[in-house]
Amino acid sequence: MTSFELSAPSGETGSRTDRSLRVLSVGSVLAFLAATLLVLGVVLWSATRADQVARERLLQTVSFAVAQSALKIPYDQESVAIWDEAVLNTRNAFNPKWVNDNLGVWMYDYFKHDHVYVVDAKNRVSYAMTNGKQTDVGYGIADAEIELLATTLRKKISAGALDAFEAGKARIPRAEDFAILDGRPALISVMPLVPHSPAVAQERGSEVLIASVRFLDGSFLADLGTAHLLEGVRFSATDDVKLSEQSYTLRTEDGAFIGHLAWTPQLPGSTILADVLPFLAAGLVGIGIAIAFLIRDLKRTYTNLITSEAQATHLAFHDTLTGLPNRAYFRRRLDEELSAFRGEGQDLALMCLDLDRFKQVNDTLGHAAGDMLLCEVAARLRGALKAGDLLGRIGGDEFAILLNDLQNKEDIEALCRTIVSAMSQPFEIASNQASIGISIGIAMTPEAGVTRGELARKADIALYQAKKDALQHYKFFDENMNEAAQQRHALEAELRQSLETDTALEVVYQPVYHAGTLTVSSVEALVRWNHPRLGSVSPLVFVGLAEECGLIDQLGEWVLRQACATAQSWSVDVVSVNVSPLQFRQPDFAERVLGVLDETGLPPNRLEIEITESTLLDASDASGRSLKALRSAGVKIALDDFGTGYSSLSYLMKLEIDRIKIDRSFVRNLGDSSQSNSIVQAIVTMAHAVGVAVTAEGVETRAQQDFLSQIGCNNLQGYLLSPPLSALGLVEVFARNGEHLVAEPNNAAGARAA
Ligand code: C2E
Ligand code: CA
Ligand code: CA
Repeated sequence: MTSFELSAPSGETGSRTDRSLRVLSVGSVLAFLAATLLVLGVVLWSATRADQVARERLLQTVSFAVAQSALKIPYDQESVAIWDEAVLNTRNAFNPKWVNDNLGVWMYDYFKHDHVYVVDAKNRVSYAMTNGKQTDVGYGIADAEIELLATTLRKKISAGALDAFEAGKARIPRAEDFAILDGRPALISVMPLVPHSPAVAQERGSEVLIASVRFLDGSFLADLGTAHLLEGVRFSATDDVKLSEQSYTLRTEDGAFIGHLAWTPQLPGSTILADVLPFLAAGLVGIGIAIAFLIRDLKRTYTNLITSEAQATHLAFHDTLTGLPNRAYFRRRLDEELSAFRGEGQDLALMCLDLDRFKQVNDTLGHAAGDMLLCEVAARLRGALKAGDLLGRIGGDEFAILLNDLQNKEDIEALCRTIVSAMSQPFEIASNQASIGISIGIAMTPEAGVTRGELARKADIALYQAKKDALQHYKFFDENMNEAAQQRHALEAELRQSLETDTALEVVYQPVYHAGTLTVSSVEALVRWNHPRLGSVSPLVFVGLAEECGLIDQLGEWVLRQACATAQSWSVDVVSVNVSPLQFRQPDFAERVLGVLDETGLPPNRLEIEITESTLLDASDASGRSLKALRSAGVKIALDDFGTGYSSLSYLMKLEIDRIKIDRSFVRNLGDSSQSNSIVQAIVTMAHAVGVAVTAEGVETRAQQDFLSQIGCNNLQGYLLSPPLSALGLVEVFARNGEHLVAEPNNAAGARAA
């Protein structure tokens, strides 16, 4: 019955997928962030680099422009400084008109010198021009900055700078510097006026100087800005240069701070960045969102996958009807608990449970009702168990319980009693009442074994014993049972072999007599097994065994064939053959019987089939159809062991039968109590009322024979009249007594075949 043979699929896939999902999500987010950072980094770096290059260029440009201006002023001055006229008109006889025209206004108009001064040998200003106009100075003192440069220049001259010029070794000397003049930044250049021909003599140290001033904040700045596209270029005398501005610092030769030229640089990188960044950001946000959606989708798919996997695992491990763990799961848990046990864990008890009479409910109320019953059984079982106990459904009407928290055997017995009493309460199924029972076999570690196979087998053996015991519905496994089970197995193998080799099995025949004439009306075929070691084994033992191990069809057909073949040549009207309810469930049973009749040549009306109450009540279509088919072919049907079942007698007699056989137990009690007499009398009366013949079996005394004849019982069978005889024995009796075999009570004992 119970064997936990299914393999258990492995679990834990759910958590593994969970982990990989997390790795995947975190990985994608990190990869996205890394990619974003890289792109932004590269863009920012290129922009910064481009800006840096632009700034360097601009600074170079500005410093170059300033240096160019510083070079240009002396060049401008050279165009008037080396000139006889200039010397003559400024030194010997100062000619204001000539000086104004040629040294003042000319320098302004032509070279944009903002101020021009003519300074005499004593460093006094003899002429001044501001923005193209002569100003009246009247030999005033020169500005400190101009005087400083004049002094510097005169030092150069006394050091021989003019001698070098006249010798053609150097350019004309000059002194030049940045300065703040009238609060404005300026470039000042001072140069001596010298004759260009030897005709005009000039004593060293008497030179008149020309000083030019070019302001750096006015037109100079405007020109600078236009020439080099400097935006917002300005002069700052303080350190107020803004962060967004770039600057060039002006210092005097001595390093004194003059001020900054400041402008807002055009930075290509920043421009590109400002243009590109919004698109880039939008793109990255878009990709980010897409990735987020992807991960969410992935998550959903995974979650669905895991859920369906979990469902599949649940289905694989649970019975869909009751929701209980199934055989595979139970087996797995049992293995786990056993390996824990072998590591010195707690004792375990395995209980195998099997419902009694479940099949009848299924047959009479239908499969839907059977399913409901199973669910209710599962609920009642669950109700009887503690939290840690494992309950499983391991077959049709088979359940198993694993107890791993054991106090003692008494506790298990108490649990068994609870379960048995819970099952004995009627079940309300689809407005019907069904009553079933339960049998329980228990095997415990370590006595019954420590492996799954051993425990399961032994719990099964105990269950088998419990099933057979009408009083106690639960049994603990003990070694005696094991022996019995092993014997049963051995017997089963031997029976199988006997059937296959057609040896040791025999059919004997017990005559049945007409009650009035005591002539033979029929013979009942009864099977015998002459076991080589055990001797004659009762069919009460081996017919049940054949039913359990699936040999009953083979055995039944063998008996039927023997009986029909043997009885065919006999003068006796009818041969009766006992048929197990299991044989009737075979859909082709009637066909096979009719086949045997055909084969042996026995007319159908000479065969009587003896059935039991359970065959008659079997609601499965097969049994009913077989019965009908046999009857309509002419085969007679007798209801055996009448009165021992649970059904109402009057109900049974209305069913399609030709005869009843009153059970031995009623016959035995005849004469002991008037109650038994009246029961048998009532049975006969009822049977005759519905046209059913009556045979009484187990007639052992003359008193029984007389009483039964007197109340009108049709036929009699029993040791008083004849025991079962071998076919040969029966033929001998036929020979002695002729056509009409008369009962030979006195010889009966000697002729017994059983
Ligand atoms: P049953 O059908 O009730 O068969 C009658 C049984 O009562 C036989 O036992 C027979 O020997 C015994 N018997 C006959 N007269 C008397 C009597 O006066 N007193 C007592 N105490 N017993 C008497 P047997 O042959 O041991 O068969 C036992 C049962 O085995 C049968 O009961 C029948 O149910 C079953 N059986 C026998 N042969 C077959 C078979 O071929 N197929 C099937 N399915 N069952 C069979
Ligand atoms: Ca019988
Ligand atoms: Ca009987």
